[in-house]
Amino acid sequence: MQQQGGNPGLPAEFPHSSTSPAQQRPPYTVPGSIPRPGPPSWQGPPPGTQFRPQGVPQPSSGAPPTLANALSNPISPFQSGSYQRPVAGRPPGPPAVFQPSQPSLGAPPPFQPSTFGGSSQADGSWSPVSNPNSASVGFSPKASSTGGSPFSNVSPVPSTFGGSIPPPPTSSSLGSGFPISSAYPAISTPVTSFPRPPQVASGPGARPPFYAPGPYNLPPTGHQFSSAPPQQPPPSSFGPSPPSFGAPPQFGTPTPPQFGGTAPSQGYYSTGPPPPPPTTPGIYAGEGQQVGSYGAPPLAGGYGGNLQQPAQGLVEDFQSLSLVPLPGSVESAVDPGMLPRPLDSPDDVKSTGTMNCNPRYLRLSTNAMPNSHSLVARWHLPLGAVVHPLAEAPPGEEVPVVNFVGSSIVRCRRCRAYINPYVMFTDGGRRWRCNVCVLLNEVPIEYFCSLDENGRRRDADERPELSCGSVEFVAQTEYMVRPPMPPVYFFLIDVSISAVKSGMLKVAAETIKATLDKLPGFPRTQIGFLTFDSMLHFYNLKSSLMQPQMMVVADLDDPFLPLPDDLLVNLSESRVVVDALLDSLPSLFEKNISIESALGPALKATFMIMSQLGGKLLVFQSTLPSLGVGRLKLRGDDPRIYGTEKEYLLRGSEEQFYKHMAADFSKYQIGVNIYAFGDRYTDLASLGTLAKYTGGQVCYYPGFQAYLHGEKFSYELARDLSRETAWEAVMRIRCGKGIRFSSFHGHFMLRSSDLMALPAVDCDKAFSMQLTLEDTLLTTNTVYFQVALLFTSSTGERRIRVHTMATPVVSDLGEMYRAADVGAIASIMSRLGVDKSMQSKLEDARQTTQQRLHRSLREYRNMFAVQHRTSNRLLFPESLRLLPLYTLAICKNLALRGGYGDTTPDERSAMGFEIMTMSISRLLKLLYPAFFRIDEFLLQGGKGETDFMMGLPKPVPLASERLDPRGAFLLNDGLRFVLWLGKVLPDEFVKQILGPEFAYSPDLSKVALQEHDSILSKRLVAMLRELRKMNPAVYQQCILLRQGEQPREGNLVLGNLVEDQTGGLSGYADWIVQTYRHISQKAS
Ligand SMILES: [Zn+2]
Repeated sequence: MQQQGGNPGLPAEFPHSSTSPAQQRPPYTVPGSIPRPGPPSWQGPPPGTQFRPQGVPQPSSGAPPTLANALSNPISPFQSGSYQRPVAGRPPGPPAVFQPSQPSLGAPPPFQPSTFGGSSQADGSWSPVSNPNSASVGFSPKASSTGGSPFSNVSPVPSTFGGSIPPPPTSSSLGSGFPISSAYPAISTPVTSFPRPPQVASGPGARPPFYAPGPYNLPPTGHQFSSAPPQQPPPSSFGPSPPSFGAPPQFGTPTPPQFGGTAPSQGYYSTGPPPPPPTTPGIYAGEGQQVGSYGAPPLAGGYGGNLQQPAQGLVEDFQSLSLVPLPGSVESAVDPGMLPRPLDSPDDVKSTGTMNCNPRYLRLSTNAMPNSHSLVARWHLPLGAVVHPLAEAPPGEEVPVVNFVGSSIVRCRRCRAYINPYVMFTDGGRRWRCNVCVLLNEVPIEYFCSLDENGRRRDADERPELSCGSVEFVAQTEYMVRPPMPPVYFFLIDVSISAVKSGMLKVAAETIKATLDKLPGFPRTQIGFLTFDSMLHFYNLKSSLMQPQMMVVADLDDPFLPLPDDLLVNLSESRVVVDALLDSLPSLFEKNISIESALGPALKATFMIMSQLGGKLLVFQSTLPSLGVGRLKLRGDDPRIYGTEKEYLLRGSEEQFYKHMAADFSKYQIGVNIYAFGDRYTDLASLGTLAKYTGGQVCYYPGFQAYLHGEKFSYELARDLSRETAWEAVMRIRCGKGIRFSSFHGHFMLRSSDLMALPAVDCDKAFSMQLTLEDTLLTTNTVYFQVALLFTSSTGERRIRVHTMATPVVSDLGEMYRAADVGAIASIMSRLGVDKSMQSKLEDARQTTQQRLHRSLREYRNMFAVQHRTSNRLLFPESLRLLPLYTLAICKNLALRGGYGDTTPDERSAMGFEIMTMSISRLLKLLYPAFFRIDEFLLQGGKGETDFMMGLPKPVPLASERLDPRGAFLLNDGLRFVLWLGKVLPDEFVKQILGPEFAYSPDLSKVALQEHDSILSKRLVAMLRELRKMNPAVYQQCILLRQGEQPREGNLVLGNLVEDQTGGLSGYADWIVQTYRHISQKAS
């Protein structure tokens, strides 16, 4: 990224100085200003109590007998040259590999939640448990009092962050480490003597402790956590009474509510200078006549380029569809040819000037904010925003980076908004007025610049933060309470028989190995692995080893770490060992016959390893978790529950364990991505909870077979690993006085009322939120929105990405309609639909979605009913011409469609998770896929492979009547391609596409599309390659299908033709007629 900003020439890297933030603060002179706290200090509860994670249940006493499982799972399948897996009782080979009663091994490394490591005593001290199961592998943590030093004796802060590193071990205690026998010498030192090498490249300087910013609230999606507010300080990087993000105003009332928070606003403005009178019309008129008025926001009608009508003149402002009587019938119909479709108009929203951020980052459901409650009530559609903070920008449009070297980022001292192009400078440049809350702020001396004759700062054009709607600030130490974390990737891999047989393990290992060089953050990147079936397999990846060492723990009730260190290692230092592990993983478990899955215990062990740093956890799960805590029942689908009040339970998490685990992961800056592969029910609804509350994603490969789905899995895993990731992030969206964000929809966890915790967020995640008016009347002409994402970059910089947007306030419903953004509306409506389906019946979710459409169009019709003849015409604003279609498509989407038997519960859940993170453009593609005929297209043109690539075929309406048995059609929904081959396609064509081997195969479900030595095949593959480039977020696999191949044809193609009558819902034309009737019946 280019380095711009106020201090060109200075190093971009922010010095990790330990200067007190207080010293760096600009000398605010406002009376009542409270100095910021100095460097964060440990503020947690007294030692002994602070290491107990909240809300994590003790291992259930009803856990299955793990000893039996351990014994019934013979070791032999794992025997390999490199690894020595301990056996029950006593391992073969070198004696005393694992010393029983090894005190230090049983004790947890510093700062591991005691609940997970042993038993959590009432006083918080840690006491290892003697567990008979653990003896079966010789890992008895029967440490008793010698090694299991209670945590109360461990000074939490130093041992946690190496501020004061415990004495190093003797050379023998961590010697050569290989073979295993030497890795486990008779260590007699207590665990606290294990040094934890500083894991952050910035050095072992005093690492500030964690700070608990406040209770965690789950997103308001119907799943309410019951976990207690964390008393335990999370490893957040957001400081105490953060100078950072959304810090409460530091003066005046003790804890004044934030902008956009839920707290009442009285008193909020009472301590600052009195707000100026409401801006009068004209001040933003854009003429630049008035001092400081250069910040001209867009006018309501100016959005989208083609909606330039003035506020008045709504006459004939509507579009309409006429209903004509059907011949010989009392029914009426619409001409299908007249129906609006997104065939020629892709989702292409224009930017509204450089002062507003690009719409790829932030879109509002309408770009005209209603000024009153009554107007909001008449809007009926979602009123809110869709935020895609890290959306990928085309080359040349990257977000500029600003580094206020040596001084603080300029922010409003009341609402904490960041300086942006819309602030106004006055008083010769010595003060600036915050556009969000209108407070007059002092300009820091080092930031001063004189104004020109128009009141504009003379350096405004050179400063991105004063001229661009999106900037990325380099954050100073005041935005961190610990050094920026390194990128951490941890892999938790199911190695049970189905994971091995399907080829998942092999593809995963090969992909990870091939991607190691692309992991961001070299040379700080850390990596670790844990595999599991009925036992947990840990891997010592210490850099001095030649081969990794596997250590097995069979104790699922109280999983513990067999090694305090080296389970998570620096990738560049341990590269050889990591490569060796990935090379041997597939063969190591080649003959594994275990069908069990101890995912829950594996997650707990992983948490112990990762909780010090946080990072990204990738879970590869091939079966239903069956052992230990978090085991799940084969709930499957139950026809008796559909249509009852309990129906939603099928789509929710059954096991509280996953929610509690997710809360802990989020708290410790761990983001979880779930890769699920089962060919049978794997209860994705429960597993996905981990991703849902940690900002992660769910990738589902039902019935995974490497030869069919391997390429897709490999691409998506590689993208997950190599794409730019924002670590330990939080996001807040601020808005002007009088409105606030009231609900949030997506994958995150809410901290306080409006701070979204995103442990690892990337360019493929979007979020949405709904707005509420707090004041009865908005008195300003403009409302400003500012999204701020505070994160650690992979290179180890704290950064704040800020997107600012101005939106006019209107008093007229027509203006709101004119400035409506159907993409943002559809995105929010889809998310609301999925959320609704988690709380009630599918039918209710569809009804609610449909009602929004009806109410909205009825309101719109009523605006014109008096002066126009509206009978037999469905009126709609131009901006919402696609809303009826998208509403229909939402109701027909896999996440909401039908009921029992329409899809599997896992596939429905997976789609729901997908929708909750999708960007707007991807969602619209999913709702109305591109559908085109390709046989003629591939045959045309010259002889070359890519001669035809002059353009893609024109998409046709999504209706089965378009399918021609003589043709081949491609359905592209942005998640996959489905290639439909008509029954009477010429044999030669089919032979070229499928190859002679499968040309006459009646069932193509097991056939993967491959490139054959024929011109048509090469062209098809080239075309798909081009299409994939347009959608890099996923790998669109091409699924092959012959006409009449049921039930695949119904599931893959016919069910997705939304203009047809499918899934118990009418076709598009009928839908319009029904909508019209519904509106007219109730219209006055
Ligand atoms: Zn402000």
